[in-house]
Amino acid sequence: MELATLADLLLQASTRAAALLWQHAWQLVLFAIALIGLETLWPAVPTQRRWRRGSATDLWLSFFNPLIVHPFNAYLLAAFVNGAIATVGMERFITTRETIAAQPWAIRFVAALLVGDLLSYWKHRIFHTRILWRIHAVHHLTSEIDWLSNDRDHPLQLIATYFVMITGLVLVGFSNEMIALQSLVRRAYSLFTHTNVRWSFGPLSRILVSPTFHRWHHASEEGMANRNYAVVFSLWDVAFGTYHEAYAEQPRRFGVAGEENPATLWAAIKYPLTH
Ligand SMILES: [Zn+2]
Ligand SMILES: [Zn+2]
Repeated sequence: MELATLADLLLQASTRAAALLWQHAWQLVLFAIALIGLETLWPAVPTQRRWRRGSATDLWLSFFNPLIVHPFNAYLLAAFVNGAIATVGMERFITTRETIAAQPWAIRFVAALLVGDLLSYWKHRIFHTRILWRIHAVHHLTSEIDWLSNDRDHPLQLIATYFVMITGLVLVGFSNEMIALQSLVRRAYSLFTHTNVRWSFGPLSRILVSPTFHRWHHASEEGMANRNYAVVFSLWDVAFGTYHEAYAEQPRRFGVAGEENPATLWAAIKYPLTH
């Protein structure tokens, strides 16, 4: 590769990264206004501070991770997987594509969310098993949960799963646009379910994830391990026997029993290697 071409590529990549981060920044400000508003009006833990131990790490990760999992990247990745499938002549095996394309927009949208959430349920459940747990534990080490805790994911977890998730959705037959949209909506919903808000959805809790539902996933209380994996549809937990939601109660302790929340970003990044 010629030097000029390489310089062009680097310039393009950095311009695109800057655009993604800028878009991420203003979206985060809008989410902060809306979700801190909810946390102020209906707090689950009223004494919890806005800027808590770990907030800085969460914010750093929030700005690094979109470079991997931004919905625009989901679109590009879906287009790449589709291109690869067409190149090897395997398109005809995706028999559901035309059936899905013939459905009204709302049906395609809900179906993409459901399938995306089903894949994400099993991804999450697998990350709670022995070897992968050390990577996913970084998300769980925080002892206070708020909206920004959502973005506390180890980059290795995202790198390891993003391609698999997108490929799964392409193989089911969803369009690139719908794959990007479900990625955007599921992330927004996940920010909401991490809020320090005491909401639960009553009988609907067996269908939709509420903040209380996900707060129980982070609880370090006895007997709460391996519960409530879904991001949007708790019906996957009901279906696979991992559902728990105590309507009347809120969890009292969060984090990983016996483990300190790493104080710095670097300590969080190297946690999987040192534990
Ligand atoms: Zn988890
Ligand atoms: Zn979480």
